[in-house]
Amino acid sequence: MAHQWRGVIREYFDRLDVDASTPIITLGEGGTPLVEAPALAKLVGAEEVWLKVEGMNPTGSFKDRGMTMAVSKAVGHGAKAVICASTGNTSASAAAYAAAAGIQSVVLVPEGKIALGKLSQAVAHKAQILQVQGNFDDCLDLARALSENYPVHLVNSVNPDRIEGQKTAAFEVIERLGYAPDIHVLPVGNAGNYSAYFKGYLEDFNAGVIKTVPKMWGFQADGSAPFVYGTPVKNPDTIATAIRIGNPASYELALSARECSLGEFGSVLDSEILWMHRFLSQEVGVFVEPSSATGAAGLLKNARAGKVPAGSKIVVTVTGHGLKDALWALKDENGNEIQPQSVSNRAEEVAERLGLA
Ligand SMILES: *Cc1c(COP(=O)(O)O)cnc(C)c1O
Repeated sequence: MAHQWRGVIREYFDRLDVDASTPIITLGEGGTPLVEAPALAKLVGAEEVWLKVEGMNPTGSFKDRGMTMAVSKAVGHGAKAVICASTGNTSASAAAYAAAAGIQSVVLVPEGKIALGKLSQAVAHKAQILQVQGNFDDCLDLARALSENYPVHLVNSVNPDRIEGQKTAAFEVIERLGYAPDIHVLPVGNAGNYSAYFKGYLEDFNAGVIKTVPKMWGFQADGSAPFVYGTPVKNPDTIATAIRIGNPASYELALSARECSLGEFGSVLDSEILWMHRFLSQEVGVFVEPSSATGAAGLLKNARAGKVPAGSKIVVTVTGHGLKDALWALKDENGNEIQPQSVSNRAEEVAERLGLA
């Protein structure tokens, strides 16, 4: 019988910080498709561009890779409740894995700044949801304080178990391609994922599986770009809510990943993010949430600046599914709402409307 993907803990048991006594809480995360994107390769003048489509995880974002580890370890330590601060996807994931584990989840989200799809996931999985009067950074401070002083386990990416689980995406890239890409591109919020990919690549490098590590290119939204400005941003502002983070939790880890990989950080405008969001949907066939288009938008910006050598092989992580924040797709370039046209049920009229007649 064909056997199905068993989730990242079972698939990478020997390469994660787990042992036989660790309870495995999984929803089958990981094993996501690496999709070749020739239209994007052509646009940026690279030989190959591949998208690591993390929206195909059980709750629709890469957060599940870290959450299976964090919740499994929490349950192993006897936790009855987990807590996280979230711009949306962490809470969706924490709520689902807590449900699978039969424990409580508490999520702290910034008031009014969370996409409807993500909120509905946390509600569906019966999280206790509190909207905090403040931004993500305030939510994280609060979650940390509660977990330090009360019986509730923190599952944000400051928890090293999250980074451990997320590094498995790099293993998958290497297994599928059989070589290390020249450049790996991704959106950056707290920079946990940026740091996790680098950790995964470095482990493969140290094990002799690959001869080089990719240059890590991380992109932020212009109004929320502490890595570019070199200092925290007090009131981060962008339509890309998943990366609307002014004071990244994995700041030092990410700086060292950039240095060791000869990588870089950059930023793009919201308009560039939305342009790429549409390009990925219309020309590549992959529907992502706006935040997830930030990496590809940055890649295009760097290509236009002449920074993408011809012959480059590039992997771009697209972090979350388009349905999570679907309303962006229903607007045109000018921000006007898109409505399907209404027609009668007469074939002639419909053919005429479609320009077939
Ligand atoms: C969490 C998230 C990010 C940012 O990841 P970090 O590890 O915080 O840098 C980007 N895109 C999506 C869709 C996310 O959910």
